[in-house]
Amino acid sequence: MSLVTQHLTLYLASGNPGKVREFRLAAAARGITVDSVPNFSELPPCVEDGETFEENARKKALHYSRCTDGLVFSDDSGLCVDALGGAPGVHSARFSGPSATDADNNAKLLRELERAGGRDRSAHYVCIIALARQGKLLGTFEGRADGLILQAPRGEGGFGYDPYFFYPPFNKTFAEITAEEKFAVSHRGAAFRLLLDSLPDFDGKG
Ligand code: IMP
Repeated sequence: MSLVTQHLTLYLASGNPGKVREFRLAAAARGITVDSVPNFSELPPCVEDGETFEENARKKALHYSRCTDGLVFSDDSGLCVDALGGAPGVHSARFSGPSATDADNNAKLLRELERAGGRDRSAHYVCIIALARQGKLLGTFEGRADGLILQAPRGEGGFGYDPYFFYPPFNKTFAEITAEEKFAVSHRGAAFRLLLDSLPDFDGKG
């Protein structure tokens, strides 16, 4: 039986309520429910030590799909800056150290860009989503959003690098738009829509 003919829940391999909310909104429009993997915080954690977004996303989805019945997805994302050879990349969350705050990371980003000459400000966010069931990988999906890194922050929304990430089609940073506007064009939104589009390809046995 096709999965789209029965009510479907996707379990996110994250306890982050903000992420669950974003994915849930997009999935609800297609009659699909999104929840965190049940008892997520009590499960053995997955070490995110991969060298690529894909490796980390696969690892998390496979790990948590062994603890849960049903479809499990995980996302791994970050900012890649051309003048920095793709950094911070998979190290985006801890760019300036193990207990880095967003402010620390943004300060380091600006310093490194100045050191690199400061002229090429092009950057993109990447998100890889992996989908798995009971220890079997069903697919990976990639989304990307292209922009420029500003010299000064703009806007109060979003998180992480968003106040510096200028998105030319909107003439605004990702911190100057609503969560819905961002999800409609973001790397995470794009990857998730590919995942949703792929669901009819998976039959009940995966
Ligand atoms: P994660 O995939 O949610 O763990 O994201 C890793 C890191 O990448 C975050 O801590 C942020 O520094 C950065 N990042 C990923 N997506 C975004 C975004 O949409 N806005 C701002 N920063 C992001």
